[in-house]
Amino acid sequence: MDAMDKILVIDDSLVQTRFLRSILETDYQVDICQTAEEGLMAAKKGGYALILLDVVMPGMDGFTLLRQLKHEETTRHIPVILITSLADIQYEERGLMLGAVDYVTKPFSPAIIKARVDTHVQLYHYQMQFRRQAMVDEVTGVANRRRYEEECTARWREAVRFGLPFSICMFDIDNFKIYNDTFGHPAGDQVIAAVAQTAASYFQRSTDLFARYGGEEFVALFLGSVGRTAFEFLKTVRQAVEDLHLPHKSPVSPWVTISVGGVTAIPTTESRPKELLQQADAMLYEAKSAGRNRVIWCGENQEQLREWE
Ligand code: GH3
Ligand code: MG
Ligand code: MG
Repeated sequence: MDAMDKILVIDDSLVQTRFLRSILETDYQVDICQTAEEGLMAAKKGGYALILLDVVMPGMDGFTLLRQLKHEETTRHIPVILITSLADIQYEERGLMLGAVDYVTKPFSPAIIKARVDTHVQLYHYQMQFRRQAMVDEVTGVANRRRYEEECTARWREAVRFGLPFSICMFDIDNFKIYNDTFGHPAGDQVIAAVAQTAASYFQRSTDLFARYGGEEFVALFLGSVGRTAFEFLKTVRQAVEDLHLPHKSPVSPWVTISVGGVTAIPTTESRPKELLQQADAMLYEAKSAGRNRVIWCGENQEQLREWE
C-alpha cells in the first residue's frame, strides 16, 4: 500500500485532538498543532491531504487561519474541514464562504468524521491528478505550454531576486512537414515524443524547465549560465537529438534534427521574459535561415554565437 496520507489537526483542546487522532490514526498519519500560528507553519511545509480546523482558539481563530490558508499558493488546494461547537448557521455559512469544504459541529460521531475525512481525501487525490494532467503534454509526457506560462514568471522572479543570468531557448524540428508527408502523422508524433524526452533529460535541475510549446516546437529555460556556457550546453543537446539517428528524408541530414535559438540576459525589473522569448524566436529564425541543425545564441552583451560558423 502507498504511504499513509497526512492529516493536520489544528485545535487547542488536547481532549479533542486525542479523540480525533484515535478516530483517524489507523488510516492516516495525524499531526497535531495547538495554535493557529503553529498550524499555518506546518501547513506551509506541505504534504497534507486534509486539515481539520477548530474555529474557536485563543490567539488567531480558525476563520482567520482559513483565510490565510486559502490565500497562500502552497496551501490553497488543501481541503479544510472546520470543527466547532458553534452550532450556528451563520458560522457555517461563513466557513463555507471562506472555502472550507465541510463543517462538523461538536459533539460528533466518530463514524461521521471518518466518512467525511475519507471522502475529502479521495476528492483531493482526484483534484491533484487532474491538476497534474492539466500541466503535462499527453504526446510527450513533458510539461505543456500552460505549465510553461505559469513557471516562467516564477523562474524570472527568482532570477531577478538573485541577480542570476536567465536563459531561454526555442527548439523546432527541421523540415518536419516533409517527415509527416513521408512517414505519416502517427510516426511524426513518435518523433516529437522522442525528441522531447531526449532534450528534456538535459533540463533536470529544480530551476530548469522544458516544455512543449506547440506542434514540433519546444521551449526551455534555465538559470545561472552565462551566454557562452548556455550556447555550448545547447550544442550538446542539439547533438544528442541528431545522435538518436531517427531516419528522415530531409535536405539537411539523413536524421531528424532540430534548430535552436536562444538568449541569455541578466534580468532587471523593467525587462520581461516575454521579450526574451521573442528574441529567442528571432534567433531560431536565424538558425533556420542559416541552414538548420544548428544553435544560434544571443549572449548577455548582445554578442551572437553561431554554430558551424
Ligand atoms: P522548418 O525546418 O522550417 O521548421 O520546417 P517545418 O516543415 O518543420 O516547418 P513548418 O512549421 O512549416 O511545419 C511544421 C510541421 O509540423 C507541420 C505539421 O504538419 C507538423 N506538426 C505540427 N504539430 C504536429 C504534431 O503534433 N504531430 C505531427 N505528427 N506533426 C505535427
Ligand atoms: Mg514549427
Ligand atoms: Mg519545424
